[in-house]
Amino acid sequence: MATNNQTTEQQQPQALRHQEVGHKSLLQSDALYQYILETSVYPREPQPMKELREITANHPWNLMTTSADEGQFLNMLLKLINAKNTMEIGVFTGYSLLATALALPEDGKILAMDINRENYEIGLPVIEKAGVAHKIDFREGPALPVLDQMLEDGKYHGTYDFIFVDADKDNYINYHKRLLDLVKIGGLIGYDNTLWNGSVVAPADAPMRKASRVCRKWREGVRQSLARRERLSFAGFKMDDESTARFVRY
Ligand code: SAM
Ligand code: CA
Repeated sequence: MATNNQTTEQQQPQALRHQEVGHKSLLQSDALYQYILETSVYPREPQPMKELREITANHPWNLMTTSADEGQFLNMLLKLINAKNTMEIGVFTGYSLLATALALPEDGKILAMDINRENYEIGLPVIEKAGVAHKIDFREGPALPVLDQMLEDGKYHGTYDFIFVDADKDNYINYHKRLLDLVKIGGLIGYDNTLWNGSVVAPADAPMRKASRVCRKWREGVRQSLARRERLSFAGFKMDDESTARFVRY
């Protein structure tokens, strides 16, 4: 993770910039990714996370779940920043939610929103067994109206240490406009899947799935909004192609 790397890289002379071509992602092969999972990630995965990952693998939409390496990264990040008050938009069966809940102190809080309660309830027994359900305030329904209500109340301004956005990609820019008000100075907002399948650098006429086109449009909007806010520093990390996230620090 780096600070303010976007501007500085653009300003670097060509000779100093990363020159290698041919890598599909930060990781060079599926076999390498599998090796990392098996040697570093799975051995450190807490038992409840493993249980939830295995339950979710049987779900017809299992592709939506956060990967084990990203779950572990979230967990570590939350501990590093001593997060206490957090929010998650897009819960599905709760893998990233459980990673968050396990990282927070006993009196930590997560406002968790999803339009689908059924999927959340698949993971809930595991979350309860792990002893962290008391940290979660789950709200069923679209997230935007909840955020609007919080902004209207006024009392939530600058109260969130960490916010993880992993829901409807075409609303990311609308979330961003509202979350800027709710995140603490020095807090983090994480937007998942922002480099989706590398579509952000694909040529304009490249054949692309709708989801990838939406991601690209969103990214442009956020870049413009970031450019207007000079007090921001930008931190990003990339994992495998399907689970990429950007973290923005305020
Ligand atoms: N973070 C989850 C995990 O670790 O498994 C994965 C989330 S999944 C990629 C996206 C979720 O966003 C789905 O469960 C979907 O129901 C939810 N969603 C879609 N539109 C939404 C909206 N407008 N408000 C809240 N949640 C929404
Ligand atoms: Ca995701």
